[in-house]
Amino acid sequence: MARTVLVTGGNRGIGLAIAQAFAKQGDRVAVTHRSGDAPAGLFGVRCDVTDAASVDAAFTAVEAELGPVEVLVANAGITDDTLLMRMSEEQFTGVLDTNLTGTFRCAKRASTKMLRAKWGRMIFISSVVGLYGGVGQVNYAASKAGLVGVARSITRELGSRNITANVVAPGFIDTDMTAKLPDERRAEYRKAIPAGRFAEPDEVAGVVTWLASDAAGYISGAVIPVDGGLGMGH
Ligand code: NDP
Repeated sequence: MARTVLVTGGNRGIGLAIAQAFAKQGDRVAVTHRSGDAPAGLFGVRCDVTDAASVDAAFTAVEAELGPVEVLVANAGITDDTLLMRMSEEQFTGVLDTNLTGTFRCAKRASTKMLRAKWGRMIFISSVVGLYGGVGQVNYAASKAGLVGVARSITRELGSRNITANVVAPGFIDTDMTAKLPDERRAEYRKAIPAGRFAEPDEVAGVVTWLASDAAGYISGAVIPVDGGLGMGH
């Protein structure tokens, strides 16, 4: 059965791969884009997840075009790495505002219509770094760990209404975000990953579409790693 899907930050990287995977299986897919154009063939709405009014307007536009959002994929995210001693309060709160509070804004806006429909799937894109930690990533790790608490609390609040909330925790995926890493850091990480390689965005997308499928209807509050074994035990 075709569903209405909204992927935040769906104009590039992992979000684009997720949006394309849903579109390929016949769902009605909308993506938010903050800069640049919407990707060809997908319904795009401009949105900055740090702004509640912008999130509300994006959902309203999607509802008018494709119907209420049944599957929310909160994927928009940023890094702003630096060591704890050098990290300004703005660097900390800025990353939290996009990655964690941005997800809260989207989940809150989506929940009303999901409750009415008595069906919904929320999938939050976290990171292996959320539970494993990362040098220079106090802000990013805190934001990604926070998503686990958000998903589990939503599971307790809305689980009886056929609404699931899960976290996908990717390891290192080849996108613009990881292209920024210096070569030596990339080589170090590659050595630490049991699979011995970074992944392609499609490898995350397959897990996300599965979590939204009927087969995954009894999975909620879970953290699913897609990290080549990097975070085992965390
Ligand atoms: P990219 O940097 O390639 O893309 C990030 C996306 O988020 C872009 O679409 C960007 O929009 C959007 N975005 C950022 N800030 C905002 C905002 N305030 N409002 C709306 N949209 C925003 O990242 P990836 O594809 O690599 O990452 C996607 C998600 O996966 C992120 O949450 C990231 O933390 C997570 N992740 C990535 C990993 C990796 O190895 N790549 C590993 C683990 C997790 P715009 O184009 O306008 O900038």
